[in-house]
Amino acid sequence: MEARIEHIKQQLQSQGYKLTPQREATVRVLLENEEDHLSAEDVFMLVKDKAPEIGLATVYRTLELLSDLHIVEKMNFGDGVARYDLRHESSKHHHHHLICVVCGSVDEIMDDWLLPLEERLAKEYHFKVLDHRLDFQGVCWRCKDKEPEDMNKK
Ligand SMILES: [Zn+2]
Ligand SMILES: [Zn+2]
Ligand SMILES: [Zn+2]
Repeated sequence: MEARIEHIKQQLQSQGYKLTPQREATVRVLLENEEDHLSAEDVFMLVKDKAPEIGLATVYRTLELLSDLHIVEKMNFGDGVARYDLRHESSKHHHHHLICVVCGSVDEIMDDWLLPLEERLAKEYHFKVLDHRLDFQGVCWRCKDKEPEDMNKK
């Protein structure tokens, strides 16, 4: 956790920005909830616990800054709400998502499945891939096995 904060601090500094206490509180919330794809409002509610004086506008500005610097990606999973997704340090390209149309869950795939395609693009189109997004819409394993009568019981 501390190492990752330090890394983000360096990313900010290299672009001429400081990791202020408010920015740090926002980054910590993103790290602690890494898999949750939080909206700005979600982030704000969690940051308020750590830094009660912080305002929603500050959280918005911090999230915009982090997304300008590609530390987080602004995502839209089809529900019209912008969500913030922390990039993983280990992979240079953005991870893939499995979005369930039944329960709305978003699972992540960490392997870069596009590498063979990237190689083809380089070879056949002389195109160097810097990044990509690949999100799948479908029915997750949790929803797939649900019997219709189980759904009605709730
Ligand atoms: Zn994600
Ligand atoms: Zn890739
Ligand atoms: Zn589901």
